[in-house]
This record gives sequence, structure tokens and C-alpha cells, in this order.
Amino acid sequence: MKIRKLLWLIPLLLIGLVAIAIYEEFFASGNYQKIEISNYDSDPTLSREDKETWTRNLRDEKWLIERSPKIDDFFYQPEQTTMIHPMISINPYIGLNVAGVTPMVSTENGVALWANCHKIEVLTGVDFFLEQVEEMYDVIDGVTEVIKNYTGLRLTHSLQTTGNHPVYGPSLISTAEIPTPKKNSIHAIWVPRESPHLEDNELGRAEIWNTVETDGTPTITRARMILSEKLFDEYDLGLIGRGSNVETAVLHEFVHSVGVGHSNNKNSFMHTDLADESFATIADLAALIFAGSRSC
Ligand SMILES: [Zn+2]
Repeated sequence: MKIRKLLWLIPLLLIGLVAIAIYEEFFASGNYQKIEISNYDSDPTLSREDKETWTRNLRDEKWLIERSPKIDDFFYQPEQTTMIHPMISINPYIGLNVAGVTPMVSTENGVALWANCHKIEVLTGVDFFLEQVEEMYDVIDGVTEVIKNYTGLRLTHSLQTTGNHPVYGPSLISTAEIPTPKKNSIHAIWVPRESPHLEDNELGRAEIWNTVETDGTPTITRARMILSEKLFDEYDLGLIGRGSNVETAVLHEFVHSVGVGHSNNKNSFMHTDLADESFATIADLAALIFAGSRSC
């Protein structure tokens, strides 16, 4: 068949692609990754495959955070070239991949990240039956600040209307059904011990929704953390990002919500096993700065 005869297919194909993009954004509730943390078992997904690598997207150079020299070591890498003096340029993908940090979603057009030009609303939902409402809200509040400082993303808390004027605080909700977060928001939902939304041995989970834009860029549009009351049974309160404690476990899930996956470094708080001596490694910090670098 002559190529010319196939030309009529092109508009059809384009309509198909647009339809797929719309479908993914609005309807495909299956189009997200579930990454769970549990301190009971080691993670079978740790064997790294190609799809778990950081890939280039030219929009990922709008840095919002001042970088330390150590972070720059991650970001400035020689271009792979046969020249005797290879050009050193911004090329975070190499450093992050070598360090064993992974993205949540990777495509040939870059990894799924939030666009850094708009506000992202953080909603804390706490089940009606839970008692530690204040602690649960405080943990989300503290962790939100940390993520904001590490990434530069414009995270804001959602306002609750209690009485006449809106205040910042948790929403008390039924978690029998957990709705999909609205666009440009991250939901942190605290559920009771026997919640059907988590496995028996699961303390928390993070899910992200991403859409593919017309230039092929995968963009996170909403995210959700489901956090079990059991985190308070399992851990004490502690320092955010240092050791195994409630805050660090929640930070782990929140970092997934901005597009960063697991680390194969045993010391990292992004390892699947949250060790007593875990902390945020330079590679973790580099991944977080990178997570805030996607321009619109
Ligand atoms: Zn995890």
C-alpha cells in the first residue's frame, strides 16, 4: 500500500492520542503506582530495572532550591562522549541512577514530577474514630514543611471551615470510602487499624496519578497517602527524617507523593526497611531538589 493512502490515518491517530491522555487524567484510577512501606519484609521490587531510572526532560532545569557543593556533585556530570575533555554539564540523571535512588514513574520523556508553577494543596483527613487527631495533623504539618523546604514546591494546607471562618486543620472524615484527590492536591488520610484500604502488614502507602502532556512529559496531578493508625503503635514520635519514627515513616510516603521511589541504600529513609539509623542521604536530598525542578 502506498504511504499516501495511509495519510488519512494521521488525524485519527492524533484524536486517539488526545483521548488516551484525557482518559488517563480523569478516569484511569488504575493508572498509578502503589508503593507501600512496611517494616516487616524486604521489598521484592528492589532489583532495579531500566524503567526505574531517571530520564531526561528539558523542563527539569528550573531549580527552586539553592544547591550545596555536594548536591552539585550529583548534578554536574560529564556528558557521555568520546572527547578527551568531556563537557561537564547539568546531568542529574547519571548521579541519581548511580546512587541507587529511583523515581516512582519513568518514561523515555522524563520521570513523573509535579509542575512547580502552581500551588499544591495538602489535605489531612483523619477518620472519625481516631483519637490522635492533633498528633496526626501535626506530623503531616511538620513533614509538609520539610518537603516544601527540600523541593521548593508550593505546598499549602487546605483550609477547613469550622464555625464562621476558615482555619487550617484536619478534616474529620469517614474513611470507609476514600475519594480520589482533586487535581493539584495531595491527600494524607489517616485510617484505623483494621482499614480495608491497607494490607494487614502495611503501615502506609502512597499513590500518584500522572498524566502525559502533549510534549510527552509525564506530570503528577494528584497524590494520596494512606497512613495507618498502627504507625503510632509501631513507632514513637521523633525527628523528621532521622531514625525509625512516625515522622520519618510519613516523610517516606510523602516523598513518594512527589515522585521519588525507593533507594537501595540501607541507610536511606527511602529504603523499604526503615532502619533505626536511617537518614536523608545526599542522594535523597538531590532527588528531592530534582523533584521540584519541573517547569510548566
Ligand atoms: Zn516506600
